[in-house]
Amino acid sequence: MAKARGGPWMIVAAGLALAATSVRAAPNEVLPIEVTAYEVSITPDFQARTIAGEERIRFRPGAGSGQVLRFSPNALQIDSATVDGWPLLVGHTPEATRIALTRPLTPGREATLTIRYHGVPARGLKFGKDAVWTEYFTCDWMICELDRPGEKALITLKLAVPQGMTSLASGAQVSQKGLPGGAKLVTWRETRPYSAYLYGFAIGRFERAKLGKGLTALSAVADEARLKRLFAQTPAMVAFFEDRAGVPLPGRYTSLLVEGDAAQEASSFSILGLEGMKAQEADPHEDWLPAHELAHQWWGNLITCRAWNDLWIDEGLTVFMTAAWKEHRWGRGAFDHEMDLAKRRWDGLKKEAGRDYPLAWDAYPSLRARRAIEYSKGALFFDALRRELGDAVFWAGIKGYTQANAGRAVTGQDLKAAMEKASGRDLSATFRQWGAV
Ligand SMILES: [Zn+2]
Repeated sequence: MAKARGGPWMIVAAGLALAATSVRAAPNEVLPIEVTAYEVSITPDFQARTIAGEERIRFRPGAGSGQVLRFSPNALQIDSATVDGWPLLVGHTPEATRIALTRPLTPGREATLTIRYHGVPARGLKFGKDAVWTEYFTCDWMICELDRPGEKALITLKLAVPQGMTSLASGAQVSQKGLPGGAKLVTWRETRPYSAYLYGFAIGRFERAKLGKGLTALSAVADEARLKRLFAQTPAMVAFFEDRAGVPLPGRYTSLLVEGDAAQEASSFSILGLEGMKAQEADPHEDWLPAHELAHQWWGNLITCRAWNDLWIDEGLTVFMTAAWKEHRWGRGAFDHEMDLAKRRWDGLKKEAGRDYPLAWDAYPSLRARRAIEYSKGALFFDALRRELGDAVFWAGIKGYTQANAGRAVTGQDLKAAMEKASGRDLSATFRQWGAV
């Protein structure tokens, strides 16, 4: 494979020889694109703990003179990149993976970017005992953009699964074929567009427990009986959230139990760490972890903040809905307990930082501060709204918000509009007071 380097740019198409001057003259202006679909084939190497990937990105170029396609930075080695068969230049910087076009594209006309890569993702992929699974940082194991959560696209994942192992990924399994040596290639496809941070997969020697129609639990570190015990409430949780959302669970749902402290929602499944589930094993009232990750299937996954500074809408509502589940199952005291916890965390931050932050914010001094606002103050905002509007109007507002925005990306204005529609009141003062708009 021919490779040449020039400044930060590298020619990665096999057999292509570009003059060094043209490499250095590679353009830097970013071309806006709208990604419509990703198709990613992943072959994990369990011994070397590496992956090899082939990815096709279908996208529509925007208008403008930009000739660089920009994606999140990662540690992958890109072996080749082409658009509609034309070779491209690839440049990795700490800020971005930049792919330069060598000829202009027609605005609005769909094109396909094909990339082959391999390597060790710096984050986002974890090899454990008899298993590998993804962790939030999707654009560390594939080429995508993590920082535009409001942009949603379809995903197809083709996983090379070693003999004796099974797989799980975003969407539903649509086909399977044999590979040499007893391995198989399993194709998973999501039928709704989702934000890139919600794509994920897992491959492993999994035990399986059926929990209900379309509801499953998997694990390489727990047997069927333990899975059934830990996730027995999943069907009841689904029924509760469906009732509050007024929108059915989007497709099937799998809870993947892994070692460690994972707590990650993905489209159509969640990854939960044994550490987090031990609290529930010791005391059944502590069922917040499976409830939280399941609630994200509606609030966060189906409806997603348009930008990270509105993540409080996803996390605050999910923490609140988890408390609402506990109220439904265990009584008002369990709800109040969750709100007390949220208030202690928010108060703790205010004391420590000597100030408060608006809900819609993005310049936190620490991850702890971010969580205290997005998760804790966010949940307390919904609690305050419920007190202000009363139960019937509040829940009608949540249902209206969920039904109107399923599949969309939102800001605080969308939530405000739905709550005002349900209540017939101007809620500007409340939303402004909390920094929600
Ligand atoms: Zn969450």
